[in-house]
Amino acid sequence: MSSLRNLPLQLVLVEESASGQNLPTPPAQGSNQRWQRRLAGALLLLFYGLPWLDWNGRQAVLLDLPARRFDFFGLTLLPGDFGWLVWAAVVAIAGLCLLTASAGRVWCGFGCPQTIMSGIYRAIERRTAPGTPPQLVARHIIWAAIAIWTGVTFVGFFSPIRALLAHTWPLSWSSWEIFWASFYALATWGNAGFLRGQVCTYLCPYARMERLLCDHVTPRVGYDPRRGEPRGPHQPGLPSVLERARGLLDPTTARDYAFRATHAELAGPMPRFSPEHLGDCVDCRQCVQACPQGLDIRAGRDAHCTDCGACIDACNTRMARLQFPTGLIRRVGSSDVARMRRMRPRIAIPTAALILLLLGGALALLF
Ligand code: SF4
Ligand code: SF4
Repeated sequence: MSSLRNLPLQLVLVEESASGQNLPTPPAQGSNQRWQRRLAGALLLLFYGLPWLDWNGRQAVLLDLPARRFDFFGLTLLPGDFGWLVWAAVVAIAGLCLLTASAGRVWCGFGCPQTIMSGIYRAIERRTAPGTPPQLVARHIIWAAIAIWTGVTFVGFFSPIRALLAHTWPLSWSSWEIFWASFYALATWGNAGFLRGQVCTYLCPYARMERLLCDHVTPRVGYDPRRGEPRGPHQPGLPSVLERARGLLDPTTARDYAFRATHAELAGPMPRFSPEHLGDCVDCRQCVQACPQGLDIRAGRDAHCTDCGACIDACNTRMARLQFPTGLIRRVGSSDVARMRRMRPRIAIPTAALILLLLGGALALLF
């Protein structure tokens, strides 16, 4: 199995497929989903909990704009310390560039608030399916409650949250507090409830930048057509290609089969293959059903893929049921694994920038 993980993965290059919106099936259990849930839990705890934390008698994290002071766990920044906010922003940008160049869009797939909130809203949608009128009412009440609490929490980072809640009834918030709480609540409701993947596809500037930060060596989620093609339902008891004489296809044939399977209207119907020649993909479409972006990863790498790994978990579950080795869809670069470890400009530049920034920050604090 470990040797399988090190196989070079020849990705199929086809034009980007159009993203459709779908309601993914409940996520298959797998390491990607587990890590996503753990990280989402920690980040949600941080977001909803931080405004309630006090430090030396003051709210621990408070960007008090009218008073022009920023409290951060006992550290107070005044207008003269604006440089520290810029420093923190640049450190965060350099860190994100480094993460993207070395691991792909894992921020999008695992840590982005849009991904996390969309996952929560989707889970509520599944629990209130098929959407009878009482279920729809319940769904929108729960969605609205989460959205409103998110808006209030957001404003709680700028205005002491306890005082904010104390002035809820009768409502005596300032006009900007009302505006930002409503704006953020509406944005949460609209983005997580309705737009979902379209925010990642059409609105997010980071998704555009990511293409500059990744290269062919960056590990991304991909399907292995050499092992999976030609796809098709299997007869019971057929072993994996890795245990049959057929073995892996050569890259050109694999690419051709994958293209033809995805573009039947151009290439015509696929010939019928004997069971012995079939690949390991049983064409169950579980990977497509699981994808929050509505993609078929077998059609090739797509710019709208967020590297969330839901398709990996779905396919691994199917492979395990068939008693095939997992990893038909996996996270790997399109060139060999040894080259991934080499330092290259996309890694070296943000690493150097981060080291310099952190050193500079430490020296500025000490002297
Ligand atoms: S193709 Fe796979 S990794 Fe990419 S967004 Fe869809 S489920 Fe996530
Ligand atoms: S989940 Fe795996 S076996 Fe099923 S269609 Fe996708 S790649 Fe093929």
